[in-house]
Amino acid sequence: MLREATSATTIPAPAEAVEEMASELRGDVITPADAAYDDARTLYNAMIDKRPGLISRCQNVADVIAAVNFAREHDVDLAIHGGGHNGAGLAMVDDGLVIDLSPMNGVRVDPGARTVRVQGGATWGEVDHATHPFGLAVPSGIISTTGVAGLTLGGGHGYLSRKYGLTIDNLLEVDMVLADGSFVTVSEDENEDLFWAIRGGGGNFGVVTSFLFRAHPVDTVYAGPIIWPIDQAEEILRWYRDFIVDAPEDLYGWFGFHRVPTGSPLPQELHGAHGAAITWCYTGPMDQAEEVFEPIRALGTPALDLAGPMPYPALQSMFDELYYPPGLQWYWKADFVDEISDRAIDLHLEYGSNLPTELCTMHLYPINGAVHDVGRNDTAFSYRDVTWSRVIVGVDSDPANADRISRWAKEYWQALHPLSAGGGYVNFMMEEGQDRIQATYRGNYPRLAAVKQKVDPDNVFHVNQNIKPAGR
Ligand SMILES: Cc1cc2nc3c(=O)[nH]c(=O)nc-3n(C[C@H](O)[C@H](O)[C@H](O)COP(=O)(O)OP(=O)(O)OC[C@H]3O[C@@H](n4cnc5c(N)ncnc54)[C@H](O)[C@@H]3O)c2cc1C
Repeated sequence: MLREATSATTIPAPAEAVEEMASELRGDVITPADAAYDDARTLYNAMIDKRPGLISRCQNVADVIAAVNFAREHDVDLAIHGGGHNGAGLAMVDDGLVIDLSPMNGVRVDPGARTVRVQGGATWGEVDHATHPFGLAVPSGIISTTGVAGLTLGGGHGYLSRKYGLTIDNLLEVDMVLADGSFVTVSEDENEDLFWAIRGGGGNFGVVTSFLFRAHPVDTVYAGPIIWPIDQAEEILRWYRDFIVDAPEDLYGWFGFHRVPTGSPLPQELHGAHGAAITWCYTGPMDQAEEVFEPIRALGTPALDLAGPMPYPALQSMFDELYYPPGLQWYWKADFVDEISDRAIDLHLEYGSNLPTELCTMHLYPINGAVHDVGRNDTAFSYRDVTWSRVIVGVDSDPANADRISRWAKEYWQALHPLSAGGGYVNFMMEEGQDRIQATYRGNYPRLAAVKQKVDPDNVFHVNQNIKPAGR
């Protein structure tokens, strides 16, 4: 029996219809009157506070089909919750229905075939945990608590991108539920247009209930951050912009401006200090790692050198608690970047040396190497021909600082945006409107809109970086 909602939040359909949908589900349906409601609607980004009318905790594909049919038949706004990490909070919707896939977090590794089947609500930590005993890894991001679904459907870049490409370049197949409630398998051989669209087009086309990935032999990596004092940042950034263009594909390194968090296990004398860091991941032969790092270690005088051999999952989870536990305020601004001019370096130094709180940051993630082996029209992810995906993020634990960190991120972005390639990574955006979405997909947008028109003409899946059905 479902409890009645509180007056503050509308249950978006007749009570009998809600009861009927709930009776079809193996998973729970949570309403605002339930004790579990506040936990269930809490997102990773505490800046977002949405109050859905219903949260369906789906346990299997049948639950997902029932929930999609309910939303369509009753014209209820529908959101999909994978890992709940999205900066813009697109896993939740006010007054609508949320399909929460978090109970669907199973991972099955086929070590012989080197493939991994992952359910739609899993996080990357769950994937790494399952693959590591086999000496395998699937290319993902830089944090283990991020959802597999959202990261993959937006493209997915991280420590293994220069060697093995984006996450979508390692995607073999998905199972998904479409807006009409039908269930399809999508791959290079089946529903090819849809397979093209979901590789970068986000959650626009349906609910992905499972992913099949190719895995790679990645076990111990030589990895971790090297941090230089901020007065050496100019030298390090100038060196890095040239180095990473031609670096061996075994070596990945993302550049960031940081402050060392007070209270962290890092040396106390550094707490609060600004620095420029490059976080490395070397996947080549371990007996050559020290040699590869020799020229890097000859640069300037690092304040801290934490690079060394470690299991790949240790690298993936290194920053989970140190910098990025759940429940912080986040404001994101993104761009793709072709080259970093001297003028851009001056601007970076101006903003990067004055991070307004200890967790505010700017990251430059390289998306060259193997990412460039795939053409810009071969998948929906269009910005393949640039060198970096850049993100400026205002982050802080105190909601009172929300305006301050958002303003800083916007001002930094406005200064650098004219020197960037145009669009930005959809997974690093707040809700920024259609112009920004179209600039990001550029020439691929019309084809995405045509696929959307074919599979979701009424835009049932619109709580996302939305691609409008063609002609609408
Ligand atoms: C600390 C942090 C670090 C990050 N680092 C990286 C990184 O290194 N590399 C990178 O590429 N990205 C990174 N990201 C961005 C990340 O890719 C996005 O936040 C992404 O949206 C998270 O996916 P999720 O499943 O957790 O998101 P959710 O918030 O659950 O969902 C995000 C979007 O995906 C859709 N969606 C979710 N699940 C499904 C599904 N099963 N089927 C269809 N649509 C679905 C939702 O509708 C929503 O629009 C990072 C984010 C954070 C917060």
